[in-house]
Amino acid sequence: MKPLLETKGLTAFYGDFQALFGIDVTVGQGECVALIGSNGAGKSTFLRAITGMISSKGQDVQFDGTQIAGMPANHIHKMGMAMVPEGRRLFPSLSVEENLLIGAAGKRPGPWTLDAIYELFPDLVAKRHNPGTALSGGQQQMVAIGRALMSNPQLLLCDEISLGLAPKVIKDIYKAVPKIRQGGTAILVVEQDVGQAMAVADRVYCFMEGRVSLTGTPDSLTRAQIAAAYFGTNEDEEAA
Ligand code: ATP
Repeated sequence: MKPLLETKGLTAFYGDFQALFGIDVTVGQGECVALIGSNGAGKSTFLRAITGMISSKGQDVQFDGTQIAGMPANHIHKMGMAMVPEGRRLFPSLSVEENLLIGAAGKRPGPWTLDAIYELFPDLVAKRHNPGTALSGGQQQMVAIGRALMSNPQLLLCDEISLGLAPKVIKDIYKAVPKIRQGGTAILVVEQDVGQAMAVADRVYCFMEGRVSLTGTPDSLTRAQIAAAYFGTNEDEEAA
């Protein structure tokens, strides 16, 4: 599969504190990849580094065949990377539809229009003129995903989209993933719910303390391998 995103040896710092230590991650064209790992493992930092929100100047981050390390975030967004941020961050004074239209600023050509978003998330149709903040948590998450899709990204980045939502709502939101992929969009999801990550992704990377501790297809990884890579435990300790 042709790589869409490829990082080689990516590092990231907050001042003197090093958060990422040589991360190699690849997302293929149209692929769905999940990043899992415990709190503080570096998942959000990875997203910030590839989107230009923290500097990756002088490093190796290829996106769609272009070196994007050190580029400003708005250039990277225009090239087709869109983020669904943790906590949704809707504009509280704007309606659902206005929030969606903001995502279309600098829009690239592609299948995602207001109508296509309402078809993907029919719950939003009746709420289109309501303030985004008057919606349920699940509906707000749909708006946040819709807003990112409105730019017609090649790669959709989703940071903890199931956080704080009921299991049924999480299921409904994840039902959109195959439909999003049908349009050719690749997806990178950061997910604390390992079962959900395994169900949705073609490949999984587990991060631990700023490093990739495990990678593979969901079928190829055992529960023990995942537990070890996630928590730093091993099978013997678990059995003890
Ligand atoms: P979570 O699920 O809690 O968001 P995460 O895997 O996304 O976890 P990060 O948020 O990327 O982890 O954090 C990685 C490390 O960087 C942690 O040690 C964290 O405390 C630190 N860190 C994150 N943001 C900052 C910041 N703005 N300033 C300093 N340190 C930070």
